[in-house]
Amino acid sequence: MAANWKMNLSLYEAGDLLTEIKKAEIDFNRVDVLVAPPFTTLPSAHNLLSGTAIQIAGQNMHWEEAGAFTGEVSPLMLKEAGCTHVILGHSERRALFFETSTIINNKVAAAVNTGLIPILCIGESLQQREEKKTFDIVREQLQESLHSFSQGAVLPEGLILAYEPVWAIGTGKTASPQQAQEVHSFIRDWLREAFDKNTGRLTTILYGGSVRPDNIKELMAQPDIDGALIGGASLKADSFLSIVRFYEG
Ligand code: PEP
Repeated sequence: MAANWKMNLSLYEAGDLLTEIKKAEIDFNRVDVLVAPPFTTLPSAHNLLSGTAIQIAGQNMHWEEAGAFTGEVSPLMLKEAGCTHVILGHSERRALFFETSTIINNKVAAAVNTGLIPILCIGESLQQREEKKTFDIVREQLQESLHSFSQGAVLPEGLILAYEPVWAIGTGKTASPQQAQEVHSFIRDWLREAFDKNTGRLTTILYGGSVRPDNIKELMAQPDIDGALIGGASLKADSFLSIVRFYEG
């Protein structure tokens, strides 16, 4: 269960939320938990979470190691700040900051070279869904964002995919479990074809888009949904923790 805080929470609010999460009883044999705070909160989150099984991700990064890239953060900087993972290609990055799948491919490659696990986001817009282009868009995003790896037909170990239909992000409109399952299953088929059977079977695929305590169980009951990327509902301890503990009850 991955929490994407986006550009939210002050340092103090973040500290309070992480303290609550840290205190909670979580069965780490049943669930992996990760938080993606804003850059400036990463070192203090790392401090607070040391000694716990909760992992930390950056929300974005540049693909170069260093240089004249004002306002950017390198893969190594994220590692130094305590990140094990990095979210790449989030639809907000694609739409608001004009990131193309080619740029995202560079970032995925740089993350892997630095030993960060990418959480690669893909997903169609409402218009694309209504025009029945969902599978074409998802295929194209996968092909282009993983171009460096499909050449050699080896997907980096542990790479995580997140299917996030853009029309479901922050809108309160969740994809139905069936709609999400259908695309997750399509993604597994694509992975099988582009890489191999095991890659298709074993790759972790998260669903993201208005995940809440009241819809997580049904989503997690789908055979091809392995977890969730959670935005809004990850900003409060009670809602995030009841999603994390979906396995109870
Ligand atoms: C997200 O930002 O990745 C996301 C899924 O947001 P929300 O849960 O708020 O829809």
